[in-house]
Amino acid sequence: MGQTAEQTVGQAAGRTVGQTAGRTVGRVHSFQSMGAVDGPGLRCVVFLQGCPLRCVYCHNPDTWEFGVGQSVTPQEMVEKILRFRPYLKRGGVTVTGGEPLSQPEFVRELFALLRENGIHTALDTSGAGGRKRARAVLEVTDLVLADVKFLTDEEYRRYCGADFSQIREFLSLTREMEKPLWIRQVIVPGLNDDPRRMKRLADLLREYPNVERIELLPFRRLCLEKYEALGIPFALADTPEMDGETLAVLAEELRAHTAAAVCC
Ligand code: SF4
Repeated sequence: MGQTAEQTVGQAAGRTVGQTAGRTVGRVHSFQSMGAVDGPGLRCVVFLQGCPLRCVYCHNPDTWEFGVGQSVTPQEMVEKILRFRPYLKRGGVTVTGGEPLSQPEFVRELFALLRENGIHTALDTSGAGGRKRARAVLEVTDLVLADVKFLTDEEYRRYCGADFSQIREFLSLTREMEKPLWIRQVIVPGLNDDPRRMKRLADLLREYPNVERIELLPFRRLCLEKYEALGIPFALADTPEMDGETLAVLAEELRAHTAAAVCC
């Protein structure tokens, strides 16, 4: 009797995934099978539900709420991911959100299972969540994509509702654990697009020799509709999108102050 592709994949996954079976359940917002911008190569991207921050430019306000989203076990998620395995050879899996460190048990188990299956794991995080949680996840993380959103305590408080010292502690932990680090910063006109800030960013990041790459990402307003649908005011509704030319100038300025690869 013939098998559907689905059955074949499911059984193959069952053989390889079952060893670390647990009872952890994650709250998942959504899943993208072929992401090309969240880490190296083609990647499955898992968006987790729940975030303690409130960044003024957040693109995913629908991930903020805790306790909602689809309930999925790490094993179920791995089975789903293994269907795309042939495409992930030079890529892997990125977990993002929301804030993945808000669900450390789920991410740790998921990453451990993925590694058992030889799949590269990347954590896309703001760094909020505390050292203990972060360490447990980092132990099974191959690459960290860390958003360094602003440069001072005051800016972090004002524009993200976050504690910058906690973010710096997280970056220090990645250094201590020798985890490759890609830094990302969303550039917003009028907030952090002054070229002089690039030297300050480079100075800050010099403390972390594990930084391999810095990505400057343009602020976009594509999320406006989401805010409207959720009935949440979007603080940057009148802010223009970031243009490519200015971003390229900022990237050039940053290159003058860092040995890390810079892209935009
Ligand atoms: S950390 Fe990410 S998901 Fe959370 S509010 Fe900021 S941009 Fe949005």
